[in-house]
Amino acid sequence: MAQRVAVPDGGSKKTSRVRVAVRLRPYMDKQDEKGEGPCVRGLDSKNLEIINWRNATETVKYHFDVFHGEQTTQKEVFLSSVKPILPHILNGQNASVFAYGPTGAGKTHTMLGSSEQPGVIPRAVREVFNLVKAKDEDEGWDYSIGMSYLEIYNEKVLDLLSLSSQDLPIREDKDKNILIPGLTHTTISSFSDFDKHFVPASLNRTTASTKLNQRSSRSHAILLIKVVRTQRALPHRQQTGKLYLVDLAGSEDNRRTGNQGIRLKESGAINLSLFTLSKVVDSLNSGTAVRVPYRDSKLTRLLQDSLGGSAHSVMITNIAPEYKYYFDTFSALNFAAKSKLIVNKPFTRETVAVPVLPVKRSREDHEAGGSGTEPQKKRQKEEKKTEQDGSSPSAHFHSLSEPSVMDRLIALEKLMMSCQDKDRTSMLKDVAQSRKEIQELKEKQREFESKALLFSRLAGEKSSTKQEPVFKNNTAPLQRKQSNATKPNKQQAVVQPLQVSQLQPLAVGKKQSVCVKKKERKLSDQVEPPDGKENIMENDWEYQFETSVLEQSRQKILQVLNSGSLKELKGLQQIGDKKAKLILGWREIHGHFTKLEDLVKVEGMTEKRFSSFMKANILSAMGK
Ligand code: ADP
Ligand code: MG
Repeated sequence: MAQRVAVPDGGSKKTSRVRVAVRLRPYMDKQDEKGEGPCVRGLDSKNLEIINWRNATETVKYHFDVFHGEQTTQKEVFLSSVKPILPHILNGQNASVFAYGPTGAGKTHTMLGSSEQPGVIPRAVREVFNLVKAKDEDEGWDYSIGMSYLEIYNEKVLDLLSLSSQDLPIREDKDKNILIPGLTHTTISSFSDFDKHFVPASLNRTTASTKLNQRSSRSHAILLIKVVRTQRALPHRQQTGKLYLVDLAGSEDNRRTGNQGIRLKESGAINLSLFTLSKVVDSLNSGTAVRVPYRDSKLTRLLQDSLGGSAHSVMITNIAPEYKYYFDTFSALNFAAKSKLIVNKPFTRETVAVPVLPVKRSREDHEAGGSGTEPQKKRQKEEKKTEQDGSSPSAHFHSLSEPSVMDRLIALEKLMMSCQDKDRTSMLKDVAQSRKEIQELKEKQREFESKALLFSRLAGEKSSTKQEPVFKNNTAPLQRKQSNATKPNKQQAVVQPLQVSQLQPLAVGKKQSVCVKKKERKLSDQVEPPDGKENIMENDWEYQFETSVLEQSRQKILQVLNSGSLKELKGLQQIGDKKAKLILGWREIHGHFTKLEDLVKVEGMTEKRFSSFMKANILSAMGK
């Protein structure tokens, strides 16, 4: 009878970092209908740069453990990122390799590849067999290799080697090993034996087409290779090493892929796993978290004993160079980056709040790469000129805003873009402080607007033009074509990075001097669709409050939805742990709720629930 032994982790309790590699796939003409050229490029074996969405004359430089450029072969990716960790599996240690990134960026190519260009999975399996074969008989161990293949789809664990299986449970044994009771585990004796089981099982994967990629998958495919070694002599010690090879679901923003209804719901669940994975990787790599949130999703729970701890983990973030992937590339890089830095800074103030003039980087820029190339200087001059004309929106913006706060915001954003993990706490304090200041400014602004409105009414002026709020939106879309600058509704890639949307001012008006009854409310402010009596009755409760008071409460709720912690979200009426996490997940993916009604986009939040949520929270905010 073999005796299982725990594997020592070198006496060190230090949690392993997840090594992060980024792989940029080649530029594909057919992916870029408009022929706009790449928006991201490699700099060297660890660094890359992407055009800054704030200002297309700047780039943001990212640093990773490894950067694999367009020319990198499948073999090179394997040799540098995967092969070095495989010997550990034979010594009873665990490892995981996962491919992250938006659909179409090359995850499946990296993990699976094709018969001409085999990827990480076939190469790793072959290598494990080779390593076992090369083991010296005299060492006195027998090795056995087995495989399982499963997917996590819609937060359900499904066995790909046995079609009849249902959602499988994930358990932890007393030695903290993660197990899936009921999961098929097949012993394999050679690579061709592996292929025989793996190929048909791959076809079992749940896939559905999306606008982005016909073959895209919204499930996480997880191949487990287990190596068990047993000592021939007494007491027949036994050690198990696990290798997880994971092709993750696409990390794209699902608003752009046309996923709706049931599929949007699936996306929500997938995003919960990806969202949690990002938290886990983040806390492992920053080393600051007290608790790594493995248990918050199926994916991270499953990978718990093979990601971080004494395990060897590699994340290959796949990105695509075309502009249509810009937003997803930007968020994938922000998830994966060790550090980032804005380079080429011709402007300071223009980088906030301005719908920036599109600048398609010319070939000269790409080749020169510096900040002072002639075409760039020319552009800077032109843009400065526009500013001085007063015709640019930024001129309007600056004249109305308080420069000291704006300067702080700009500085803060620069800090956020380049900060290291250890700076986060102090940075968050700065964010809170800035938010407070913006809020105060906003209040002043509202007061001012109300007074102006009163004055204009008193003066008998009739104005049909609607007043534009000063802090409309801090996010500037990355516009690529000059002609688009005057047509903001034609934006192709509206970028809403999370950090920036968090800086959105919170409109809480304490002292509103103009109160209007609900009858005068704009149609767009109304919560319920006009689909029957029930809704009108449901909403009658709102009539008893003045619009300004109601609006204040709505803004407060919106504020919690947009910036509240898990605990604060749970403090809302009718929001439990699960819903709060889904809201956090939604926020992570989509940035922020522009209006309360956006809440129905969160999984499980029907119109009816939303209506009841609003009622409960507004009444609670008013102490009723
Ligand atoms: P994902 O799995 O992330 O959705 P795929 O692996 O299916 O993306 O890649 C999308 C397309 O790009 C496929 O046609 C694939 O063959 C191709 N591709 C991806 N990465 C590379 C690469 N490094 N070299 C060549 N072609 C690639
Ligand atoms: Mg794929």
